[in-house]
Amino acid sequence: MIVLGIESSCDETAAAVVRNGCEVLASVVASQVAVHHPYGGVVPELASRKHIEAIVPVVDQAIAESGIPAKKIDGVAVTQGPGLIGSLLVGFSFAKGFAFGHGIPWVGVDHLEGHINSVFLEADPPAFPFVALLVSGGHTSIYHVTSHRDFHPMGQTRDDAAGEAYDKVAKMLGLGYPGGVVIDRLAAQGDPTKVVFTRPYLDKAEFDFSFSGIKSAVMRHLQLHPDPSPGDQADIAAGFQAAVVDVLTFKIIHAAKAKGCAHLAVVGGVAANRGLREAVTRDAAADGIRVHIPSIELCGDNAAMVAAVGYHRLATGERAGLDDDVYSRVKFRPRG
Ligand code: ATP
Ligand code: MG
Ligand code: FE
Repeated sequence: MIVLGIESSCDETAAAVVRNGCEVLASVVASQVAVHHPYGGVVPELASRKHIEAIVPVVDQAIAESGIPAKKIDGVAVTQGPGLIGSLLVGFSFAKGFAFGHGIPWVGVDHLEGHINSVFLEADPPAFPFVALLVSGGHTSIYHVTSHRDFHPMGQTRDDAAGEAYDKVAKMLGLGYPGGVVIDRLAAQGDPTKVVFTRPYLDKAEFDFSFSGIKSAVMRHLQLHPDPSPGDQADIAAGFQAAVVDVLTFKIIHAAKAKGCAHLAVVGGVAANRGLREAVTRDAAADGIRVHIPSIELCGDNAAMVAAVGYHRLATGERAGLDDDVYSRVKFRPRG
């Protein structure tokens, strides 16, 4: 089955063509980073307008690159929420129109379910059950995943998402937006032992997170030591990253052990972090746990992960209706 995936929940317009929920034939992502950069964050109204400009060329490009004629597409999967309403509506309305026009079925997909299923786009995917750390710009949660559709929440952040903390710390250091990639790069040049930050909940036998404390600790450090040199900036970035990575790594491995899972997954935008990838891979190996982290292109927002979820929905006969609508807040209520 060939599924066209469409994603427009935030500031990326993305389309992908995926065969049987696992083989990516084409995946195109048009980023709006340059549009929002001057404002230090995503401006919703600008995002919607840019999605409107990008959606048709991005879908055309994905179909052209896939080598599959549009007539051979069997169904459409589109992100329904959570995200920015104006942004979601562009992809969602386009998907409805595309499916209706081609006389093919379509389904709405939850963005977070998409991130979790991104590991199935890689060779040698995890076996069920496994535990997944979803770590992105808006979410930081751990799930016990028992099927493509069944995710049981084990813990989540009580305040900021990890990606949000990365972006805020980057802003404090004057490194621009979005900050995750920049801090990741800078951290590799710094000494993580020079400035040591708090590691909230590291010692507790539960799976909730808190990142606002680490963020505030960075702020206090900068108040006491203003105007850091480039070397100091690298040390602060390294210290911050070490704190975040320690907590994330400890919790997901602890979750795998608590559930007796031989496989764990790390997904979402922050899964692109080199420090996190290395730490989880190293520490899990010591416990004989297999680690699944998508390639960098599939960590950030993309439409291939949406198509992967859509495949399973469409294959079991699920269909959306023309009067279905988008949703902005987490709706994703894991079953069971
Ligand atoms: P959500 O998926 O929760 O709805 P989102 O879609 O905005 O939110 P993603 O696109 O999945 O989030 O991830 C974006 C986040 O990932 C940003 O906060 C960004 O700074 C962070 N990020 C990207 N690359 C890295 C990296 N290498 N290290 C750390 N953080 C990173
Ligand atoms: Mg984004
Ligand atoms: Fe996302």
